[in-house]
Amino acid sequence: MSVLAGQTAIVTGSSSGIGAAIARAVGAAGANVVVNYPGGHSDAADAVVADIVAAGGAAIAFACDVSKEAEVDAMVAHAVATYGTIDIMIANAGWQKDAPFAEMTLAKWQAVIDVNLTGQFLCARAAVREFARRGMVPERSRALGKIVCMSSVHEVIPWGGHVDYAASKGGVMMLMKSIAQELAPQKIRCNGIAPGAIKTPINRSAWETPEAEKKLLELIPYGRIGEPEDIARATVWLCSDDSDYVTGTTLFVDGGMTLYPGFSTGG
Ligand code: NAD
Repeated sequence: MSVLAGQTAIVTGSSSGIGAAIARAVGAAGANVVVNYPGGHSDAADAVVADIVAAGGAAIAFACDVSKEAEVDAMVAHAVATYGTIDIMIANAGWQKDAPFAEMTLAKWQAVIDVNLTGQFLCARAAVREFARRGMVPERSRALGKIVCMSSVHEVIPWGGHVDYAASKGGVMMLMKSIAQELAPQKIRCNGIAPGAIKTPINRSAWETPEAEKKLLELIPYGRIGEPEDIARATVWLCSDDSDYVTGTTLFVDGGMTLYPGFSTGG
C-alpha cells in the first residue's frame, strides 16, 4: 500500500544526497514530489524527477533558495498551482561553512544560519499557511499537515570547528519543538530527524579514504556509515499516518553515534 497516496510533498535540497533519497522514497510511497534545488538549472534535480516518474510517480523540479522569503513562498504557490495543495514539507536543505572559532567570519556564520535555520523557518511557515487554507482531508491523512525538519546529531553533540553548523541544528531542534507544541491542536505534526554520519557530498572528506572511514567508524557503535536511504525510510514513516501520534520529537538515525561510544568500556 502506498502510505502517502494522493499527498504532495516538497523536499528542499533534494537534487543530491539525503534529499534525493527522500524525494525518491516519498515518490515511491505515492506522493507527488517537488524536487527543490537552490537556483539556475539542475541536471541532478531533473534526474531525480526522472527517477520518480520512471517508478510510476509524479514529480517536478523547482529552483528556490530556501533562505529567501519570496522564493520560498513562490515555491509553495507553484506546488499548490500544480498539485492543488501540499500535505508535507521536508525541510532538508543545509550546508556547512567550517572554520576554527576565532577565524570564523560573520559571513560564514550568517550563511549557515540563513540556510540551515531561517530556511527551515520560512519553509515551515509557508507550509503551515497552506495547510490552514486547505483544511482537513480525512481520506488522505489524519493530520492537517506534516513537517519534517532535517537536523543532525549536532543538535546535541557540540562540534568544534563547526560552531555555526552546530548552533543552526540546535536551533532547528527548538524551532521544530515550538512549532509542534503550538500547532498540535490544529493537527499539524512537526518532527525532526537527526542523521549521524551518512555518505553524501556534504561530508565526503570524512569517509572517502580508508583511513578517514576507519576513524569515523570509531564513532559509530553499529559499525557502518549510514546511507541516504536509511534517512529516507525514517522520513516516509514520519510523514505517514503510521506515526500519527508522534509530534515534537527528534528521531535519531545514527547507528548509535549519540550513545557516547567512548564510554563503552567504562570511560
Ligand atoms: P548534500 O550537500 O548532498 O545536500 C544538501 C542539499 O542542500 C544540496 O542539494 C544543496 O544544493 C541544497 N542546498 C544548499 N543550500 C540551499 C539553499 N539555499 N536552497 C535550497 N537548497 C540548498 O548533503 P546531505 O548530507 O544530503 O545534507 C542534507 C541535510 O542533511 C542537511 O540539512 C545536512 O545538514 C543534514 N545532515 C547530513 C548528515 C550527513 O552525514 N550527510 C548528517 C547530519 C545531518
